[in-house]
Amino acid sequence: MHVLITEPIAQKGLEKLVQEGAKVDVKTDLSRKELLEVIRDYDALIVRSNTKVNEELYQKATRLKVVGRAGNGVDNIDMDGATNRGIIVVNTPESNVVSAAELTIGLLIASCRNIPQLHTRLKGKVWDRSGLKGMELQGKTVGIVGLGRIGSLVATRLKSFGMKIVAYDPYVNETRFKNLGVERREKLEDLMAEADILTIHTPKTKETYGMIGKEQFKGAKKGIRVINCARAGLINEEALIEAIKEKIVASVGIDVPDGEPQATSPLLELDNVVVTPHAGADTVEAQDNVGVTIAQEVAAALRGEMAPNSVNLPTLQAQELSSVKIYLKLGETLGKIYYQLEKEAVEKVEIIYRGEVAELETSMISLAILKGLFEPVLKERVNYVNASLIAKNRGVVVTESKESTVDNYLTLVTVKIISKNKTFSISGTIFGKAEVRIVEINGYEFDVHPAPYMLIGENIDKPGVIGQMGTLLGVGKVNIATMQVGRKISDKRAMMVLTADSEVSQETLEFLGGIEGILRVHFVKL
Ligand code: NAD
Repeated sequence: MHVLITEPIAQKGLEKLVQEGAKVDVKTDLSRKELLEVIRDYDALIVRSNTKVNEELYQKATRLKVVGRAGNGVDNIDMDGATNRGIIVVNTPESNVVSAAELTIGLLIASCRNIPQLHTRLKGKVWDRSGLKGMELQGKTVGIVGLGRIGSLVATRLKSFGMKIVAYDPYVNETRFKNLGVERREKLEDLMAEADILTIHTPKTKETYGMIGKEQFKGAKKGIRVINCARAGLINEEALIEAIKEKIVASVGIDVPDGEPQATSPLLELDNVVVTPHAGADTVEAQDNVGVTIAQEVAAALRGEMAPNSVNLPTLQAQELSSVKIYLKLGETLGKIYYQLEKEAVEKVEIIYRGEVAELETSMISLAILKGLFEPVLKERVNYVNASLIAKNRGVVVTESKESTVDNYLTLVTVKIISKNKTFSISGTIFGKAEVRIVEINGYEFDVHPAPYMLIGENIDKPGVIGQMGTLLGVGKVNIATMQVGRKISDKRAMMVLTADSEVSQETLEFLGGIEGILRVHFVKL
């Protein structure tokens, strides 16, 4: 694992990477030209917001498997380019949320109590509170726009001040509002008309850019106080300044003034505006968290494990991830078998989740099935990131369905792989907490514990065939670990699945294929 770091991360993060077995080069003063020259030697690249990770870089980065963005957002990373190449992009969206929420509260209190203004007077040896009377929080209403990670932390903290919390976030469900004890407002305008203090915590998107402007301030409660510790541009600064001058807005606390990283915003000129230079994440704890988290994420992604904060993968909460983890193994196993038994091009993959698994977030399991399916036949790297794109580019239709109940099993995943002339079917389950089992192939029933080396064959169901298989495998020096036979009595056919301790040579396979009654036999490597 050869990792290049082009922008500073906390020492704890570097130590973590080394502990994980990575060879780390920290080169924070590379020119663009130098970066493009050296990038070919690295498996992973860790950046913050200044290194442009784009097509020009991807073309040179032939070994690159993971891009780690230490921090929030991926504005400097070309996501399509990464996804097309199967490069996993990870970031650390959670690492600084507490710090950002705490600064929000800090700015809120500072602006409601004029702390910086009083501080400046007193430091100037002037003992004078006149004109700077504050406002108490207790009993007031705070309106939160965006009830995500930071918005929720702000809500729970402000409750302890005895405030009423209302929020506008059309994308958050009722249960979450209820659990947080926050009242929902359907319209931003209603929130603004009611709030004594407004704080915004949305990401910067097409929809949210400038979402609080002239119109919104017109309908705002007179004397409203406004906090923005999210992103510049969410609140239109011109409209805000006008609203301050018209005394609609009483005070402002802002961590993200326009013009960053230059101190050029006209807000800086106004007395009732408290400002900080994008310091929301600037705490020792947040920076340590960012460093350690990005190190863990990059190392996990390089090892081929699930990185919980992959940006170009469906995201799973840590708890969800632990419950689907064993199904990822099952899915990959089920997917891997088809092309080792069949040669026909796949037209459609139908995935059916039944029983317990149907309750889980299954999108990642479906990706694991596709990853397994394409891996044996494609030269290009197949992983969770590009598996569904590969299916799409190859014209393979993928469908997913769920049934809450299933006969005989608690949980069952069935994959039907449909080609022009036939349908191949394979099913698997989980026994106990973590035992993967294949329980069906093409209608033959088994209970097979998958192993790295397997032989799968079909034969006429008559005496002597299995005995000869055993003998010939012995001659070929292949030790059989387990063997199971599934039968279709009416067809006089059987399918056998053997697990072996070693690979089976082509020569032995040919001998096996020559046994009378054997219809076909394949070596399968998992
Ligand atoms: P998040 O993704 O957890 O939450 C964002 C919330 O905004 C979501 O609940 C989403 O549903 C909601 N939302 C999206 N569009 C909306 C719309 N049109 N109207 C209302 N709600 C909408 O994000 P987070 O981690 O809580 O971060 C919030 C903001 O804080 C982001 O802009 C982030 O970049 C910023 N941030 C700033 C600092 C700093 O240093 N000041 C540090 C960390 C994060």
